[in-house]
Amino acid sequence: MPARSALSGNARSIARESRVRWARQRRAVRRLAAEALRRGVDLVVAVVVLVVLLPVVMPLLAWWGIYGRPVAREVRLGKRRQVFRALRVELGASRFATWLRLRGLDHSLVWLNVLAGQMTLVGPRAIAVDEPGLADAGGRRFLVKPGLVCLWWIRQRANIAFGSEWAADNEYVASRSLSGDFGILLRALVAGLYGARRGETAERIELFGLPITNVAMDEAVRRMVAQLDADEPRRACFINADCVNLSFRNPAYRECLRTSWMNFADGIGMKLAGRAFGREIRENICGTDLFLFLCEALSGTDKSLFLLGAKPGVVDDLHAWMRERYPDARVAGARHGYFTAEEEPQVIAEIAASKADVLLVAFGAPRQDLWAAENLAATGVKLAMGVGGLFDYYSGRIPRAPQWVREIGMEWAFRLAQEPRRLWRRYVCGNVVFLARVMWWKMRGSGFGTRISGFEDSGFVDARGQGESPVQRTTRRR
Ligand code: UDP
Repeated sequence: MPARSALSGNARSIARESRVRWARQRRAVRRLAAEALRRGVDLVVAVVVLVVLLPVVMPLLAWWGIYGRPVAREVRLGKRRQVFRALRVELGASRFATWLRLRGLDHSLVWLNVLAGQMTLVGPRAIAVDEPGLADAGGRRFLVKPGLVCLWWIRQRANIAFGSEWAADNEYVASRSLSGDFGILLRALVAGLYGARRGETAERIELFGLPITNVAMDEAVRRMVAQLDADEPRRACFINADCVNLSFRNPAYRECLRTSWMNFADGIGMKLAGRAFGREIRENICGTDLFLFLCEALSGTDKSLFLLGAKPGVVDDLHAWMRERYPDARVAGARHGYFTAEEEPQVIAEIAASKADVLLVAFGAPRQDLWAAENLAATGVKLAMGVGGLFDYYSGRIPRAPQWVREIGMEWAFRLAQEPRRLWRRYVCGNVVFLARVMWWKMRGSGFGTRISGFEDSGFVDARGQGESPVQRTTRRR
């Protein structure tokens, strides 16, 4: 009997082994098939593109053959760090060169690298052998061929390239699939319409008469953290297309934005408006993204947050989420945002008693920013900001748009689909009004005419002694 059970145990383990081997072989075959398909698609697309570009490519190659110009062979790292030479057209600063560059044709010869199998359509950027920071890249990104487009490329065009390129590359390689590549190609088509950032623009710009602090996410967070040791309390606001529309209807809100310490451009509307006025927005900075970086930056420090807003229960769920995700970030207090005018002094006293450094107000615009402005001094915080639906997202009440939706600048459409009854006016009508406003300001040619003097240093304008400010008038009326 024991001999028979040993025999059947043996047979079971052999069967298991053969199943594992079979699964492994199937995976390998699938991988090979996927690679063959990728290569096939690369070949077909490269041939079609090169045929279409023949009138450009042929003269360039002929010129190169005769004069040894204008093609540069840039040394790049390929799959498994194998060195190859990527072809690039270098025509200097002539008018023809600018014409080619504006149409992306200076990259037309890179399709020969795709044809040669050194590059592929989707993959991490082909980097130089002496790329700065290469030591941090890790080996994973070199498991695949470099590509013409990648996640980082798309996120840069959508202004949401936070973190590092290497992290985005690793994320791509870890989840690489044929359907994923197809999705990246589709997103790249949309992102390509936004175009690359055209040069750097000033750190302080004005859009629709509103001052914008035009910095990247890490700089925004760095300034906020530094502010927590300042003497004067300050406010930061996030301005999206809806906020711009609101600011034209509500003078108090407009004043509140004009007197804020830092305003950040949030959303694809602001990016396109900036582009239309020749003021490139460096990065899309919304409260929901910034919150994560701020929590990270405050973790392990003695600075704390007060969470004010959203429905009862939501703020507690957010607090619980933070305890899990950022256990070293201090939360001095949390309170829901549904209180009466009579309860307001008690809410303010609660915040002041908590000795919090940062106050996040989630009432929705414009109320949150007006409230923060009016009560900034009384709450005793060093930094206050309105963060909209942030609490609803991280508490798990409302799903945030997936990354790919944000990459194509369609987060607003995702929000609209979630709550069409409440949001159709804001997004359907609001977006049309916003675009009309962009065209109107462009026609008037006065997008930024008026300079706002010293807005970086201005706190909320306290009108005591000069009559009541519009901010105070509005919040009192509520
Ligand atoms: N809210 C609040 N008190 C109120 C009205 C609204 O705390 O009196 C909250 C509401 O529960 C939601 C947030 O304010 O969490 C507003 O979210 P909304 O989606 O309007 O903000 P958005 O991010 O779209 O600006």
